[in-house]
Amino acid sequence: MPDTVTLLIEPLPAGETVTDIEATFREVDAAEPALRVGELSTQRGDGIFETLAVSDGHPQEARAHLERLRNSARICELPEPDLPQWEAAIARAAAALPAHGEFALKLVLSRGVEHGPAPTAWLHATPAADFSGPREHGVRVVTLDRGYARDAAGKAPWLLLGAKTLSYATNMAALREAKRRGADDTIFISSDGYVMEGPTSSVILRHDDVYSTPAPTGAILHGTTQLSLFGYLERTGRRTEYRDIPVAELGSADAIWLLSSVRLAVGVTALDATSVPYDAEATREFNAYLQSPRD
Ligand code: PLP
Repeated sequence: MPDTVTLLIEPLPAGETVTDIEATFREVDAAEPALRVGELSTQRGDGIFETLAVSDGHPQEARAHLERLRNSARICELPEPDLPQWEAAIARAAAALPAHGEFALKLVLSRGVEHGPAPTAWLHATPAADFSGPREHGVRVVTLDRGYARDAAGKAPWLLLGAKTLSYATNMAALREAKRRGADDTIFISSDGYVMEGPTSSVILRHDDVYSTPAPTGAILHGTTQLSLFGYLERTGRRTEYRDIPVAELGSADAIWLLSSVRLAVGVTALDATSVPYDAEATREFNAYLQSPRD
């Protein structure tokens, strides 16, 4: 059984019914050329994506990811994706992957080729990296200035904040800066001094028995993992809240986690080179929940 699956997708307009949805997918060898040189996704990062986990054959939270894909398309003025088509593509890829293990499944919807066929879409599933180390031992984090205020989304909608666009060069640059400073990851701070998110993760804090995360007011991506974990925490009797979190509260938290779809929950052990309380037991509990089949 292959451990990599790549499908080129002929995107259907939302709501279109077709008799043979499978005929809109073409499985290709990921090592072979598949995209045109004029692709706006590669030339300008002009497109959107989602990455979801496939755990032991189960695509985690596929609906939440597809709804966010639709929201990103709306923000970027891309044609609305047909969610049943994407669901069928995810199901086909998940069925083709080995029944055991963790995989990262990436969905891409690009603006396509200028003056050519548009949009372009594909799915690419590969084995997930081994995150057992950071899940068990946590990560050292530095705070970095994001360069805009927490209300930037409303003032400058062309920044496309809140959409998961392909333009991740700045996010990767922030991770390199974190490594240069001797850390593993970073938490972005808005220019007006509020906690935002990591370059590839959401941030949650615990003070006493209350879990909080920055309000998803548009400047950050609303994480599917954070949303799912908050649901779990509420169902198991714990308090959660969305609110503006001043940066000083990172220093007073009883625990801080970064959450994302494939790495899942990792606890923060140090913040700007100062040790912070780390809750290994709660992290294990969160990851046991996040690795169980979720819809
Ligand atoms: N924020 C950003 C900027 C991200 O890139 C990601 C995921 O890649 C997240 C938050 C977490 O989102 P999710 O939990 O849906 O993976």
